Amino acid sequence: MARAFRHLKGGVRIVNDRIQDMGTLTPFVNESVTDGKGFVLAPGFIDSHSHHDRRLFENPSAIAVTSQGVTTIVVGQDGGSTPIDTIRARIKATPISVNVATYTGQAWLREQVMKDDLLRKATAEEIGSMKIILDRELDKGSLGLGTGLEYEEAFYSNRDEVVELAKVAAAKGGRYISHIRSEDMHVEESIEEIIEIGRAAKIPVQISHIKIALRSKWGNSASIVRQLQQARLEGINITADVYPYNMWGSTPRVLFPKKDFESLVSAEFATRELFDPASSVMTNYPPNKTYEGKTVTEIGKLNNETPAQALLRIIRETAETGSSIVATSMSEVDISNFIDWEHANICSDGTISGHPRGHGSFTRVLGKYVREQNLMPLETAIYKMTGLTAEHVGIKYRGVIARGNFADLVLFDPATIIDKATITNSTALSTGIEYVWVNGKLVYRNQVAQPNFPGRFIVR
Ligand SMILES: [Zn+2]
Repeated sequence: MARAFRHLKGGVRIVNDRIQDMGTLTPFVNESVTDGKGFVLAPGFIDSHSHHDRRLFENPSAIAVTSQGVTTIVVGQDGGSTPIDTIRARIKATPISVNVATYTGQAWLREQVMKDDLLRKATAEEIGSMKIILDRELDKGSLGLGTGLEYEEAFYSNRDEVVELAKVAAAKGGRYISHIRSEDMHVEESIEEIIEIGRAAKIPVQISHIKIALRSKWGNSASIVRQLQQARLEGINITADVYPYNMWGSTPRVLFPKKDFESLVSAEFATRELFDPASSVMTNYPPNKTYEGKTVTEIGKLNNETPAQALLRIIRETAETGSSIVATSMSEVDISNFIDWEHANICSDGTISGHPRGHGSFTRVLGKYVREQNLMPLETAIYKMTGLTAEHVGIKYRGVIARGNFADLVLFDPATIIDKATITNSTALSTGIEYVWVNGKLVYRNQVAQPNFPGRFIVR
């Protein structure tokens, strides 16, 4: 690593919402003191790719988030987003425990302009209209442009359409973050595409939840890291985030890279290469709730079908309602390589239920990958959850314990920290997170949310 990390014994003085001082401190008269008991005090973790906003205002204490030590969520991911005025109004009406920052989603922009006619390229005039909306959101503090090019709302847009929008974000000092067009069959070309977007729009680009979700490409992470390093040598500011699980969670429609949702040949390819149907579980299945919690193989057995036939049934039956699957799909070696990449930060890609990553990503990295597997020093892992992340998404005055920065802090026990959430119990709370402060207020203590709601909307 090119960077040196420092840790020191001492105290941190919080005054109102800021860090006023740190080091060897003597309490003032009547100053309240929290004993850190020799645990680790780190900047509050920043989740660069979160979907925890989905039911945030029904759960304003956001325990899925704070129980991992996360103090800021970055939403507006995968091409979706909520207008900033709406987010601000919701926070005002229902104060929340965590900070929120957002990108502006390309699919959302397309929907504003093209309505539901999305399975095509946008016209020049439509792109012009999208640019105006994006520019307005950037002025309100959007971090930049987010895309989800694998999803149908954006899949039919081309590179030029994205570059046109990315240039608007670049002009305002914003950034580009993307769930790239393919994470399986065409992952290398899709990485080439995001590199090209960075080059053409002169904008920092971040690959969301980098992974290799194709069995015959497992092990290619080293060559992908070389591809990324090559782009960086050329001057393109490309970075990535990654979550620490070998399973993703999304719509099962992404299992059809060619969007041929009725093809048995493609379904058979998917069950062979793209996921393991015997360990991949439907987590949301509106037309038949009894399928929730069952694997694709199990659903097949119930209907005397092969896993591939069951997959076609799932796509067919949920075409209108949508559905969610947690699919086993990645290799541990690739996950470790991506987490270890110098320019990768940690994210959850999580929601408040469904996939265990929503409750366990950050604690899992610190427990499993740092303590148990010794993948990297603790300081490096923390940096990948804080200072590096703040740089990658463009957040200021957070992510580092420094005088004048906001007092977002987490105190944890490095000897016991670990995730507990699983597919069948996706909301189990992690252990080892002792205290979490957001903007100087305590929001979480030993598995209990505290009734403070100091979360703010964070602007670029
Ligand atoms: Zn995504």
